[in-house]
Amino acid sequence: MARVRVNEIFHSIQGESTWAGSPCVFVRLTGCNLRCTWCDTEYAFYEGNQMEIAEVAAKVDSFNCGLVEITGGEPLLQQGVHPLIALLLARGHHVMIETSGERDISVIDARVTRIVDLKCPGSGESARNRWSNLEHLRPDDELKFVLSDRHDYEWARDAIRTHGLSERVKAVLLSPVFGKLEASDLAAWILADGLSVRMQLQMHKHIWSPTARGV
Ligand code: SF4
Repeated sequence: MARVRVNEIFHSIQGESTWAGSPCVFVRLTGCNLRCTWCDTEYAFYEGNQMEIAEVAAKVDSFNCGLVEITGGEPLLQQGVHPLIALLLARGHHVMIETSGERDISVIDARVTRIVDLKCPGSGESARNRWSNLEHLRPDDELKFVLSDRHDYEWARDAIRTHGLSERVKAVLLSPVFGKLEASDLAAWILADGLSVRMQLQMHKHIWSPTARGV
């Protein structure tokens, strides 16, 4: 039986993407090979326990919630994520995955909703973007840019225009780093440039404490 190293499994409200507001079970896998300057899940770099995928699926089932997101950390670092996805799909769940965009997304089961980051310069990790992933995008994928300042915004805007990203995915998500970039500034920039994107705030940080875990 395949195993994965799990940081936490919890039931919450999806705070991001076009699924924001929906009840969702989160499976957070341990480990990440990036170190984004604004990372809000550093506790997932090392903490976690090995679990058989059947145990993970049973825990997910216990919440009686159809929507599941596999996140991290970087979930694609663990080979066990693929049999876990297959098991969750077989049990009737709608499976989402959030990935940094550094790993190859083409290996993910085509039935999964993929939220793929493109790392902006302010993250300190933009050199790690796997640009070939853009060739594998599907119309139901979502692309996410996390922005820490105006420079990040302009970088994202130029990437969106250069690669025609808004026409290639379900949604291009622009998200300000919580506590660093004012949402009102980002809104003004998007409107001034007429970008076809979807601005998002991390809803869970407004419902609960911004530093709360397991929400
Ligand atoms: S990829 Fe995600 S988990 Fe990894 S350092 Fe960046 S924000 Fe944190």
